[in-house]
Amino acid sequence: MSFSTDFALAQKLDEQDELAAFRKRFVITDPDLIYLDGNSLGRLPKATADYMQRAIEHDWGERLIRLWNDGWVNTPTVLGAKIARLIGAQPDEVLVSEATSTNLFKLTFAALRNLPDRRTIVSDVFNFPSDLYIFQGIIDMLGMVCPSSPYQLQLIPSHDGITISFEDIEQALSDDVALLSLTHVAFKSAFMHNMARVTDLAHQVGALTLWDLSHSVGAVPLHLNEWNADLAIGCTYKYLNGGPGSPAFLYVRKDLQSRLISPIWGWFAAQSPFEFELNFTPAQDISRFRIGTPPMLSMKAIEPAVEILLEAGIDRLRVKSIQQTSYLIELAAKWLLPLGFTLGTPTDPTIRGSHVSLRHPEAYRINQALINSPAPAVRVIPDFRAPDHIRLGVAPIYTTFSDIYRALDRVRIIVEKRIFEEYSHQRIGVT
Ligand SMILES: *Cc1c(COP(=O)(O)O)cnc(C)c1O
Repeated sequence: MSFSTDFALAQKLDEQDELAAFRKRFVITDPDLIYLDGNSLGRLPKATADYMQRAIEHDWGERLIRLWNDGWVNTPTVLGAKIARLIGAQPDEVLVSEATSTNLFKLTFAALRNLPDRRTIVSDVFNFPSDLYIFQGIIDMLGMVCPSSPYQLQLIPSHDGITISFEDIEQALSDDVALLSLTHVAFKSAFMHNMARVTDLAHQVGALTLWDLSHSVGAVPLHLNEWNADLAIGCTYKYLNGGPGSPAFLYVRKDLQSRLISPIWGWFAAQSPFEFELNFTPAQDISRFRIGTPPMLSMKAIEPAVEILLEAGIDRLRVKSIQQTSYLIELAAKWLLPLGFTLGTPTDPTIRGSHVSLRHPEAYRINQALINSPAPAVRVIPDFRAPDHIRLGVAPIYTTFSDIYRALDRVRIIVEKRIFEEYSHQRIGVT
């Protein structure tokens, strides 16, 4: 693909975009605010506001406790079945519950318990820190229980800061590995693992795989069944647009469900919660990975959002995402690499997720200038990832080619005119 640096091209690509109408389904109040952070917090779908008003006023306000038997009690699995369609799983293999980090804890522990003679968890240096902390915490906990036979975490390195090589994964695997757990699309570089090949490799040494889909779901097609994945987790507030802190999902392949047991035996994980038995008997299905009463209002907000993605179709979204990230990378190559930027993302779209990382020594201040420039300058919201990444997220359901053009043009101006020097190095809370 080769793109010209003419704004007319961006406009033409928007006109030709068969998914363009979906943008109107989202709340967009400021046309001069370019949002390229849908990979951290997706936009608000218009349908969500009405849906939530009904959930609050009618369901909670009028139906009261009866709402549970109006269907709310099954929301975690009914919604899970919808998300299953986005990740290539069976309807009864996905559950919506808790945070991604909590689900990782549950499934990691369950995997280790299933292979008790093995002591190693393998991950890579691109994994999300929370994931690595959860592994470290589990290792610490099990070490207290059994200090003579400690678990260890082994991290696969990256040689170029952008990709992880297949050979290095192969080398890290042995018959001591209980679990290989990777984030499918890396949160900084957007490198995408080959899930089918990597899973096959892990299975050859008898290990289980656990995939974090936080930066994949809703952005790239996933075929968990076909790729033989064992376990997975993921966020709903990023490309799924479920809202700030909306509950996460987990996937457990059908044949593993009866063999794996969660470390947290809450009453909703029991076979018959409303029998109030004194001893725990786990549910026979995916519900055994539930814990307690879910945060229902946050969960309800995911429902209309997922519908929009299902309607658009993940394959069409992927085609547009590749076209948009490729366009972004070409503009960056022409405008920004000469200004001291380097590309922190694979150029090959088949191993790239839906965001692009641009690296610059002044990334933090450039990012601040993008977000805070006073009108009439366009403002751009990307995000900053230490030490020097500006991450530009393309959410093909609502991002336009014009957004990308205007955002990159703005980065160019900020660096060329050294506007970033007006901003402080002082870090603020959430970046
Ligand atoms: C965003 C993200 C998370 C977030 O986990 P929470 O428990 O929801 O805070 C986890 N893993 C990855 C890879 C992420 O990108």
